[in-house]
Amino acid sequence: MKDNIYSLMGISDELFQFSEKTLSSLEDRFKEIDKTAEYNQMKVISAMQKNRVDAACFAESTGYGYNDMGRDTLERVYADCFGTEDALVRPQITCGTHALSLALSANLRPGDELLSPAGKPYDTLEGVIGIRSSPGSLAEYGVTYRQVDLLPDDSFDYDKIREAINDKTKLVTIQRSKGYQTRETFSVEKIAKLIKFVKGIKPDVICMVDNCYGEFVERLEPSNFGADMIVGSLIKNLGGGLAPSGGYICGTKECIENCGWRLTAPGLGKEVGTNMGLMRQFYQGLFMAPSVVAGALKGAIFAANIYERLGFRCVPNSTESRHDIIQAVELESPERLIAFCKGIQAAAPVDSYVTPVPGDMPGYESEVIMAAGAFVQGSSIELSADAPLREPYAVYFQGGITWHHAKLGILKSVQEMLNENLINIEKLKEK
Ligand SMILES: *Cc1c(COP(=O)(O)O)cnc(C)c1O
Repeated sequence: MKDNIYSLMGISDELFQFSEKTLSSLEDRFKEIDKTAEYNQMKVISAMQKNRVDAACFAESTGYGYNDMGRDTLERVYADCFGTEDALVRPQITCGTHALSLALSANLRPGDELLSPAGKPYDTLEGVIGIRSSPGSLAEYGVTYRQVDLLPDDSFDYDKIREAINDKTKLVTIQRSKGYQTRETFSVEKIAKLIKFVKGIKPDVICMVDNCYGEFVERLEPSNFGADMIVGSLIKNLGGGLAPSGGYICGTKECIENCGWRLTAPGLGKEVGTNMGLMRQFYQGLFMAPSVVAGALKGAIFAANIYERLGFRCVPNSTESRHDIIQAVELESPERLIAFCKGIQAAAPVDSYVTPVPGDMPGYESEVIMAAGAFVQGSSIELSADAPLREPYAVYFQGGITWHHAKLGILKSVQEMLNENLINIEKLKEK
């Protein structure tokens, strides 16, 4: 691209040239991402064709939702796409935390023990499990919890995991994405190895994977390697930016049946639950998801390469392979953090005129700043950024329904810092 169309969006020629140069070094990686998207696109289309998806699947059901063909077919599509016996894909599942809570509470009974062999789970699960005391937690229902932390090099502590598995161990939860921790995100291969190890010790233990942000980043999912359940949110990867709410659980027939009893009521299970008229968005979102995830991944890699060249530490770094869509950049100052978020906000198609400011958030010790201008509230498959205002002033950002929007967001974030003299413009010329 010769002309700087981004000048329309306030991006200087200097920054644009820097961006083009950076991009030209990423061609091979982008090609690889497109290949993965192509592979996953075929999986989705094949699952839709096999289950004879047609326009009748998009019809709205009401009330109990008996004989909801769209809902039932969608669940078969998910199951086939992810290589599981069954699936639960519902608008009534409000978010990822709800889906995870459902999968856990549906499959654990009083006296059972839950094991996390890969360190502390995602923040919101602390309340679900009862690590942080919370009304209605699994702990209140007599489910105990055990955790094995990762070794200093982020690898699994297999010896301790072997010791931790006991007669009561019923379910093992493995979080794929690092979330807001500093460890690396686990590859599907690593998770597969862990599942094999756990099953080698206790074959009937249920292995659940928190698959949030990991879907379609690789060609295969943990469910292709023995995970009994994979769980996630539809306002992340698999909703493709189109699903306005919802969550999914794909897994064994027995696990999913239990989830059905817990989602609605014992005796009713998966047979009920209106689709709320959202089926077209759910189907089309899944259809779009491989390329949406590809766009988000390109944005993450582009950001790592831009910010690393500007002298900032990025996690993952500019060359590492990717296993989720999250990018962290350590900006080393609160001013840069705020400028970054301003840039992301200014690039949004929605709410671009608002200025994000740091504020107190329940559950966080330091102030938090967030940027999002999304079509769906809280949707983090859309371009979004958030950061606690504390050392090392790392911003976590993700998403971008289209690669070009992600690119704009990153350029705006750099431009904002340039405008405020927070980074050295000479850096743009050096590289
Ligand atoms: C986002 C996320 C969750 C929770 O999902 P919500 O939709 O925010 O409730 C759980 N685990 C991981 C790893 C996540 O990224």
